[in-house]
This record gives sequence, C-alpha cells and structure tokens, in this order.
Amino acid sequence: MKFGTKCIHAGLEPDPGTGAVMTPIYQTSTYAQEEPGKHKGFEYARTQNPTRSALERNLAGLEGGESAIAFSSGLAAMDAVMRLLEPGDEVIATNDLYGGSYRQMVRVHGRYGIKSTFIDLADIDSLRKTITAKTKMIWIETPTNPMLKLVDIKAVTEVAKEKGILTCVDNTFASPYLQQPLSLGADIVLHSATKYLGGHSDVVMGAVITNNKEIAEQLYFLQNAVGAVPGPQDCFLMLRGIKTLHIRVERSCKNAKKIAKYLVGHPKVGKVYYPGLKDHPQHDLAKTQMKDFGAMVSFDFNGGTFETANKVLANTHLFTLAESLGGVESLIGHPASMTHASIPKEERFKVGLTDSLIRLSVGIEDVDDLIEDLEKAFRNI
Ligand SMILES: *Cc1c(COP(=O)(O)O)cnc(C)c1O
Repeated sequence: MKFGTKCIHAGLEPDPGTGAVMTPIYQTSTYAQEEPGKHKGFEYARTQNPTRSALERNLAGLEGGESAIAFSSGLAAMDAVMRLLEPGDEVIATNDLYGGSYRQMVRVHGRYGIKSTFIDLADIDSLRKTITAKTKMIWIETPTNPMLKLVDIKAVTEVAKEKGILTCVDNTFASPYLQQPLSLGADIVLHSATKYLGGHSDVVMGAVITNNKEIAEQLYFLQNAVGAVPGPQDCFLMLRGIKTLHIRVERSCKNAKKIAKYLVGHPKVGKVYYPGLKDHPQHDLAKTQMKDFGAMVSFDFNGGTFETANKVLANTHLFTLAESLGGVESLIGHPASMTHASIPKEERFKVGLTDSLIRLSVGIEDVDDLIEDLEKAFRNI
C-alpha cells in the first residue's frame, strides 16, 4: 500500500458492530461483561478503547511499524519512552531539542537519576566520544527547531547499533509523509500528533511507534499503568486529520518552497534557513533522507533587532502569531521571545538564533496571498 492510501485505510475496517464506514467514537469508560472475566476484549477504557485502537493501527501503518501506542500529548509519549530507562542510565540528545523535551529530560527524569547530555548529532565523531558504558538511548530530532538543521538518522543509528544503544527519533517536524525513521534503522519513533498528524490545530496528542515487540509491550504497560491516554473524541479527530496528511504536507511543502525563494530574493531579509535551499549545509542529506523539504522556514533581517521582528509580527494577518505548527493555517513565531526565551542570549546567538529570527509554519492557503501578507508586513521595517 502506498502512503496516501495508508493515510485513509491503514489498519481501518468498517465498524464490525454496525458497518459504520468511519470509525465510531466509543464514548464509554467501561464495557459490559457476560460473566466475571468473560467479555469482548474490552474491560475498561484506560486499558482498551476501540476508537483508540483503530488510530493506533493506522499510526503504525503510516510509520511502517508493528505497533503504535497513543498518549494524551507528545510529552506524555516522551515520558513513556524515557521510563524505558533505569536510574543510572544516560541519554545523548540533539542539542537544539524542542524546549519541552529538554525540560522533561533535565528537570523531570534528571531527578530520578537519568542523565541527559546534549550534543550536535550532526557530528558523528563527537557522538562516538560522548557515548559511555551507561549510554542507553540516543534522542534524535530532525529537522530541528527553529534552525532547521538535520541529523543523519542512518549514520547515528549505525553507531548506536554497534554499541547496543536504543535510538528514538522525534519525527514531529517531518511527519511520516516526509521521513520514516524505522526504515532508516531507528528503534522508536515519537510524534507530537498535535502538529502535522492532526493537522488542524484542534487536538493535543502524542504517539510512539516501534517494530520492537518487547519495547511495544513495555509501552502498552506504561500507557495503562501511568494512564496518560487520549480520549475517544480526540482519537476520532486525529483519524480524520490523518486522512488528508499526504495532501496537506505536499501542499505545505510546495508553499514553503515558494516562500523560501521569495525571502531569499527580498532585500531586507538576511539569512533564510530552509533545507530545500541549495546553500543549506545539509541540502544533500535532506534530498535523500526526506521526501520533500518540509514546511517550516526560518529567517532573520540584515542588522535586525527585536523591534524589527516585532514590527513584522504585529503586521501579518494571514500568518497568525502563535506557538505550535503543522496546521492547515499558517503561523508566525518569534523564537527568541517565545519558544526559546529561556536560553541565554549568547547561546542563542552562537547558533544563529538572533533577536530578529522569525519562524514560519507554512499552511495550505494560496501561496500568493501568503507572500502578499509578508510583503505588506515588511513595508513597515
Ligand atoms: C510540540 C512538540 C512536542 C511536544 O508535543 P505536545 O503534543 O505539545 O506535548 C515534542 N516535540 C516536538 C518537536 C514538538 O514540536
């Protein structure tokens, strides 16, 4: 089955009870038993829910995995993955990690004896040097936020396999339409399904996908034992969103490419960060690792300041000033004051995250309108 067909059909059958073509919302917390212990495979909805199971089968199909386990948010999914580790174990992670993932590693799991080290995973030599006997997991995020750097998933998983270390790829920014980490050697794929999978900015959800039976069993155990499960209504919305994943991401990428080109040609714009540009340092890797270049674009202004960015942010109308990404609607954000405000200025500047850096999540509107929206906002600076 090809990807677009999977979005609509993977793991899904008409409802066995009624023939309903669309997966029903099983809004129930419990299920009738004929006699104690005799039931239809469903006892209590934290443990099993048919709407959630349908979504999990669909998600497994999209990532080419055997099992998918859904959680109430991306960070709840991450928490379950981190609980696969024991006190004393160490994690090596991408250094420009999603802020919430960094916070969870350091301030939550750090308190329970799991140490995380953050390095540039594009540098394989540095990875080899950082691995210790205690390293049990490598945490990859690619492309990264907001600098849109890539990590070579295959190269990292090869090193990890030599040493018997698990790899987990946060595939939120790419979506399974663009990149399927299990096929590149990763053990675990994680999603904030809140973003591209849901695609309509109306659900918060997470998921973990794997081909490893033992890991899957542990994650199902944690899903039930810790209990961060998504509700059936949200699972329905997620299934509905996924049906157009391929069309949405394809269109967003097309729009993003045109916007990146427009930005490169604009006299007021400074650096443009987009893996689809020939001068992106990992453009060749992007061409082989991803099906297309994604729909996130970052840029700054020549000699730009906080003020410059503010003037632009206050004057776009189609691009909404908001956190998050991956929806049908275009969003604009200011990492220095929003997602990355807690990082010291010197640290930010070192990686190019200047005060005027702006991040776009390009949606599926008509691209000419999006460009006109930016053009009008740039007139104010
Ligand atoms: C949003 C996001 C998360 C966290 O997911 P939530 O659904 O908000 O809990 C994790 N990783 C990345 C890359 C994200 O963008």
